[in-house]
Amino acid sequence: MKGQIIVGVQRQTEAIMPIGTVSLTGLKCDCICYECKGTLEAVLNTTRRKHFRHSNRGNCNPTPETELHLLAKKIILDHNRINIAHKGIVTYADPVTEVWYKDVIPDATIIIDGLPFYIEIVVTNPINSEKYLKYKSDLSPVLVITLSEVDRDLDYEALTDLVLNDRTNRHMLSYADQLIKKVEDDKFSWWPWGILAGLAIWLLNRNIPKDRRIRRRRRF
Ligand SMILES: [Zn+2]
Repeated sequence: MKGQIIVGVQRQTEAIMPIGTVSLTGLKCDCICYECKGTLEAVLNTTRRKHFRHSNRGNCNPTPETELHLLAKKIILDHNRINIAHKGIVTYADPVTEVWYKDVIPDATIIIDGLPFYIEIVVTNPINSEKYLKYKSDLSPVLVITLSEVDRDLDYEALTDLVLNDRTNRHMLSYADQLIKKVEDDKFSWWPWGILAGLAIWLLNRNIPKDRRIRRRRRF
């Protein structure tokens, strides 16, 4: 889905700029496109929805999914309280986004009670298995926030509420399903041995009458 650009990046600070936070119009906003890094103009004096446009019309057509992802990360950076599925609303410190952790880049890392806590924002792509296995290797606490059903035209305040407070769109990354599956896999791997054992028992049982027959013959 394509649409008007509503998120820019401040050229100097590299801060994410939702169009609602921009006050300088046109090139004065000094923003660039998050996708192609091209210069953006802020279109603020419009009777329709405020937006950005590329100053040099090229082929760049940034996706709204990326905008949603960027906005969600900015919201986490700008606040210090979030609803984490199992504990309700907690206070966090030192939020960072896109910082490496064990060969993966969590969307956001926050500190809760002195410990790192990770946040993944799912818009289009679910967490890939490589990332999942890295998290699972030390049972990292990971909150998954799903924004795939979110209306792209949602205003910034409503999106803030969805990212920080909504209870229905989040869950803690579960490692239990995988543990159960592992146990099932282990059980499953016993079946060839079961068949071999069965075969051995059958062969032994088959041989017993033969032995008895031989012994009987010798008696005569
Ligand atoms: Zn662009």
